[in-house]
Amino acid sequence: MIYMDHSATAPVRKEVFEVMEPYFTKSFGNASTFYSLGREAKAGMEEARENVAKLIGANNDEIIFTSGGTESDNIAIQGIAYKLNNAGKGNHIITSAIEHPAVMETCSALEKKGFEVTYLPVYEEGIVKVEDLKSAIKEETILITIMHANNEIGTIQPIAEIGKIAKENNIKFHSDAVQSVGKIPVDVNELNVDLLSISSHKIYGPKGVGALYIRKRTRLEPILYGGGQEKDLSPGTENVAGIVGLGEACRLAKEELDENIPYITNLRNKLIDGILNSVEKSYINGNIEKRLPGNINFRFTGIEGESLVLMLDAKGIDGSTGSACSSKKLTASHVLKAIGLEDVDSHGSLRLTIGPENTEEEVDTVIKEIPPIVEKLRSMSSIWEKEESLLKDNTKRCDI
Ligand SMILES: *Cc1c(COP(=O)(O)O)cnc(C)c1O
Repeated sequence: MIYMDHSATAPVRKEVFEVMEPYFTKSFGNASTFYSLGREAKAGMEEARENVAKLIGANNDEIIFTSGGTESDNIAIQGIAYKLNNAGKGNHIITSAIEHPAVMETCSALEKKGFEVTYLPVYEEGIVKVEDLKSAIKEETILITIMHANNEIGTIQPIAEIGKIAKENNIKFHSDAVQSVGKIPVDVNELNVDLLSISSHKIYGPKGVGALYIRKRTRLEPILYGGGQEKDLSPGTENVAGIVGLGEACRLAKEELDENIPYITNLRNKLIDGILNSVEKSYINGNIEKRLPGNINFRFTGIEGESLVLMLDAKGIDGSTGSACSSKKLTASHVLKAIGLEDVDSHGSLRLTIGPENTEEEVDTVIKEIPPIVEKLRSMSSIWEKEESLLKDNTKRCDI
């Protein structure tokens, strides 16, 4: 099997699983209890907190653990929105048109509660313009939430610049960095963020655990109530084993970052060149430079990404479509729409995301397998037929 869907999730690394194991069996204590079993659990959690903090240049006490990227985004966005709105500071939020649903849907829910949300465009490149941000800011603006790297097209936003503008205007700034942490350098001070979301399962940790960086003296209104754990913001008995796993994943990510970036970038570029050179009318969605090392988002005219994914699956290759397929209906991805693609084009997209355990041989196999599948799908496609006859028409016109 060739796994190239690392933006969807990554396998739990063996090293991570090994450090987690004792917290299920031997050190199973509740981290809030004071006897030794509880203290052991607490110690494991605090070591993990330090490893998360170190990876992003934060202090330990600026990290809270959550149940994942989604909860981190919700705590940050709703927490700031309600805190500052209740204090009479305003009701305006600025975000981008390509956020993950965890941010997008949170903003949309806030709109229904009376908040006003501006969705910044990202143009063909898939990147927000700082000028647009500047002109969107008004007196009522209390929060800017813009992701660091996009989960579909991998584009990297100018977070440091955005953060600087937020600071100058005294506006809180949150960034969903679920896709960037552990993949490219992330430093909360260089990026000028007040809040930053992390998820464990995107960086070789277990699912169902994440973290939120909260800059000192940033106050949030809680969205959940309970036993007061994690600064009253993510209450409930801590997922100790999961947290320990996240900590180890962060420690390894920091250690291996410098080695992984060139390795993964090289595999990605090889795969891109191999496909673009052998499949006509194939393209890359989004800016190619300002992009995560492991992200490829192809577009093949005249085919359905879903069929391509299924046929690749049959060959033992795991990738995903560019268009989000909900169980109820097929809707074009809001990200691909935001970069200006028509529905038919966005349905012909394929996302392959590479991780450090992928090999050059795997890339060669994928380069070999994709072209015949695309050709086969095109031979059955009415869109492709139209495309071809259009081409022929053009040739005729050229003949005259
Ligand atoms: C996966 C993902 C999330 C959600 O994280 P979970 O831990 O799965 O809840 C949020 N934002 C981005 C950009 C993601 O890729």
